[in-house]
Amino acid sequence: MSNAVWPLPQIDLTRCNGCGECEMRCPTGAVEVHGYKATIVRPADCTFCDICESYCPEGAIGRPFAVVFAPEAQMIKE
Ligand code: SF4
Ligand code: SF4
Repeated sequence: MSNAVWPLPQIDLTRCNGCGECEMRCPTGAVEVHGYKATIVRPADCTFCDICESYCPEGAIGRPFAVVFAPEAQMIKE
């Protein structure tokens, strides 16, 4: 079980038209449309998948990218 904490999808409210596609397709119910704008209502349930991002017709929701450095490589002694 991972304890990873994902960044949340970012929503550009100037582009979101409230179509509800993200809410209908989100597998965890993490995003809903309120007042014609998408909102992450259950951040703990967001699995950082790419579904809302893939289906949004306006390109209004997307996952921010983070640069993550891998743990230092273990030195192997021969
Ligand atoms: S799919 Fe895109 S445009 Fe439609 S409600 Fe969600 S974020 Fe807004
Ligand atoms: S990234 Fe996946 S789980 Fe998170 S809000 Fe979008 S569709 Fe839902």
